[in-house]
Amino acid sequence: MQKIPSTELLLEIYNRLLEKTGHRNWWPVKYDLGSDTGFEISAGAILVQNTSWSNAKRALDNLHDAGIWGYQAVHEANEEYLVEATRSSGYYNTKTKKLKAFARTLVEEFDCDDTKLFALELTELRERLLSIYGIGEETADDIILYAAKKPSFVMDTYTRRIVDRIGWKVTGNKYADYQRLFETKLESNVDLWGDFHAQLDGHAARVCTKRNPLCQACVLLDLCPTGKSNIA
Ligand code: SF4
Repeated sequence: MQKIPSTELLLEIYNRLLEKTGHRNWWPVKYDLGSDTGFEISAGAILVQNTSWSNAKRALDNLHDAGIWGYQAVHEANEEYLVEATRSSGYYNTKTKKLKAFARTLVEEFDCDDTKLFALELTELRERLLSIYGIGEETADDIILYAAKKPSFVMDTYTRRIVDRIGWKVTGNKYADYQRLFETKLESNVDLWGDFHAQLDGHAARVCTKRNPLCQACVLLDLCPTGKSNIA
């Protein structure tokens, strides 16, 4: 097994997962249809922290149904209503503060227009997002990749789990160390990066699970020393 994945190997993995499940069309949007999907994706990226997408989605539905939709609405909303609407996503007090901080930035600095924020050059955009309360690297990259449509590969515990099990050598244990494995080998392609991340997440959720991974049924088994040892 190569300790550093080649471009060919990464694309082989992506194509196997794609063939198995089809394009995942991530990030899903339900309300902000058309070209302006920034609020729904950004709010979803905050709400999905430390919880499942189904819990985050319920909170998004509640926000929409309560009429707290858009940066101005979140900025002006009573905190108690926000807490109630986001309860299903867990950590609702903190997430309310995070949504408020993000909305305040958009209202006060970007005239409520996220295209002005997203127009920043990639490095500047990432730094600006990371400077907002409650936006860590994964959330920032979710927003950059799926809302701003700029190339920043998203890492999370699911993606890292697959990297670790396939046994690639990661120098360091930081987000950026894992991210570099993908970003240095793949052409800068927003659709590919978005779907690749979604494929890895889906695979980790359904097949390469934390406990009792389904190695026997895994399309990556011949590439994975952990899987081979699990079934030996
Ligand atoms: S073979 Fe097993 S450990 Fe390896 S990626 Fe597949 S499910 Fe995960």
